[in-house]
Amino acid sequence: MHIPKTDTYLVEFRRQPEKRTAVLTWSDGADAELTYDLLQGYCPCAHCRGHEGGEIVYLPPRKPIKSVQAAPVGNYAVSLALEGGCNSGIFSFDFLREIARRENLLNLPESSS
Ligand SMILES: [Zn+2]
Repeated sequence: MHIPKTDTYLVEFRRQPEKRTAVLTWSDGADAELTYDLLQGYCPCAHCRGHEGGEIVYLPPRKPIKSVQAAPVGNYAVSLALEGGCNSGIFSFDFLREIARRENLLNLPESSS
């Protein structure tokens, strides 16, 4: 997956446990609601991707993801611990945005120009 570089960063990662989704908001006002299963399916870590490397594609999780814990990694990424799935995936802000864009879930802010 080509991940376009943006000059945005993630400002909020709001969990909605009852829906098993997370609402992500970027610094330019764009947002997206991603399911926990979607996050697991795109986990970029070596364990989830195996040894084929290269292209990142969606791999449906074997079991539904029950919950997620997000922790910041530097100022460019979050580490997601997905209960029932992976607990060490590092998702860069641009990568999360690209997932949302690919899945047609990215809501761009109204153009201000
Ligand atoms: Zn993983």
